[in-house]
Amino acid sequence: MVKMEIINESEEKISILLKETDRAFVNALRRSLMSDTPKMAIETVRFQMGTFDVCLSCGHRNGAAIAREASGGSGCGNCGKKLDKEGVDYTVWETNGPLPDEMIAQRLAMVPIPTNHEEYHFEASCPTCKDLVPEDRGCMTCNMIYTCTAYGSKEGSTVTAGDMVFLGAQSLEITEHYRTIPITKLYKGQMLEFIAIAVMGVGSEHAKWSPVCGVTFVPRSVAIINNKVRARVLFRLKLGITARDFDKKGRLEDIDKVKTLITELHHVGDGTEEKVEFKDAITIEEIPGEFIFSFETDGSMAPQTALKKAAASLSMSFGSLEEDLAAVL
Ligand SMILES: [Zn+2]
Ligand SMILES: [Zn+2]
Repeated sequence: MVKMEIINESEEKISILLKETDRAFVNALRRSLMSDTPKMAIETVRFQMGTFDVCLSCGHRNGAAIAREASGGSGCGNCGKKLDKEGVDYTVWETNGPLPDEMIAQRLAMVPIPTNHEEYHFEASCPTCKDLVPEDRGCMTCNMIYTCTAYGSKEGSTVTAGDMVFLGAQSLEITEHYRTIPITKLYKGQMLEFIAIAVMGVGSEHAKWSPVCGVTFVPRSVAIINNKVRARVLFRLKLGITARDFDKKGRLEDIDKVKTLITELHHVGDGTEEKVEFKDAITIEEIPGEFIFSFETDGSMAPQTALKKAAASLSMSFGSLEEDLAAVL
């Protein structure tokens, strides 16, 4: 049974010490995190298209030209004010901007959508819609709907991920940290309006459904003093690690300190004058079966959640493998 110890953890990053395992297992966990961990991401975007006359008295959006006096319109559809002069009575807004819709949709897909695995399901296994044909699927427990209406300005206004409004619990709005992700920039007369739908998916289908980045693992190592006298060559340089960091047997096991020591050993390593005297007074040795596993999430879920979901999907694939083998053998 693999043992896990959390070395350090923050909102988005985690480092774990894995014991009594091997490279193949740790790598399987790594791949499962990247490609088999369920996550919500925007899959469909419906853009509003058209030109509008916005009434400057009440802010009501009238269809293009129909309410204008020049075209025989009876005025603003909401307050009835005559729309005579552009810039005085009304302003014209068109749903176009510097970026094509496809590009905006692609950018939206990369925004980390807060993922709640208890509340949302895959469309295909959603309790309400799993029996429907794929085109008809989509309900409150498998789709997350975001809306956005943004107007440009003379100086240019940046539309960001935070301009999207989630139709539902406030806890699932785009998180504070990611609200500044720029989507596009709009100038005077340009507007953007869309409805975006996020669904659950996995990274093997598309990178937008991969909740992690920088998933790495290294063997856990310890430092050993082989020769106390020659080791002083390093300690004399007064870097971070001192002789006191080692225990009585001349071993250093602290993970962070070993990491620091590895970089400091370059001062007495290849290409330095000190190497001649230092030789290999301190060596780094790997501990068999122990690995330091670390990764970062994209902000859609906590690192521990991602790890649990990855482990669950890994054990599920092995479970089905067992069934397959039982059927064949
Ligand atoms: Zn009006
Ligand atoms: Zn559903």
